[in-house]
Amino acid sequence: MTLKIKYLTLGAFQTNAYLIADTDTKNAILIDPVDNADSILEAANEDEWTIKLILATHAHLDHVLASQPLKTATSAPFYIHEDCVEILKQVPAQAKIFGLSVVPAPAEPDRLLTSESEIIELDSIKLKTLYTPGHADGHISFYMENENILFSGDSLFAGSIGRTDLPGGDYNLLMRSIFTQLMVLDDDVQVLPGHMQPTTIGRERVANPFLLSYDGDGT
Ligand SMILES: [Zn+2]
Ligand SMILES: [Zn+2]
Repeated sequence: MTLKIKYLTLGAFQTNAYLIADTDTKNAILIDPVDNADSILEAANEDEWTIKLILATHAHLDHVLASQPLKTATSAPFYIHEDCVEILKQVPAQAKIFGLSVVPAPAEPDRLLTSESEIIELDSIKLKTLYTPGHADGHISFYMENENILFSGDSLFAGSIGRTDLPGGDYNLLMRSIFTQLMVLDDDVQVLPGHMQPTTIGRERVANPFLLSYDGDGT
């Protein structure tokens, strides 16, 4: 079994979309249908990958703008945490506030994830859901345990953390999520975030100023 990951940085907010494929079956999971459905489809088509599942880390508009066009194009089901449903409904109104032109309503979720950790599987791809709210309600990080790779969405970034000044943001809750769900992982776990460049758990442990200056223990 071989896995391959591709990422694209797309849209007005420069958000990362990740395609994870089983290169034997050429089936792929998309983490965050961020924007520009055509670019994402093209990236999948290049390697003859078929997107079989669309996952969202959270419902901020820059992570779900392409959910409906991608669902239509691929017929893949769309999963998101149950606490994201309300925010999802507000995406078209939010887009207007941010001055984006008319955007399609986000896809209707086909399954609602819960706060309980579970394994989502597609062929040889196994993603463990880690409930990491604080940046947004219902935020989920996806951990590929076998490969030592974490998709952290907008919870943990290289040298930074998710902003908590948007509706649903909660700084203490975010810190608790980061410390109890993410920083318990090994130092060599690669972190692929929703924005900016990749990092590792080890690097963030010793160099992330937001984690170093936090005076609680996250519990
Ligand atoms: Zn966000
Ligand atoms: Zn974002």
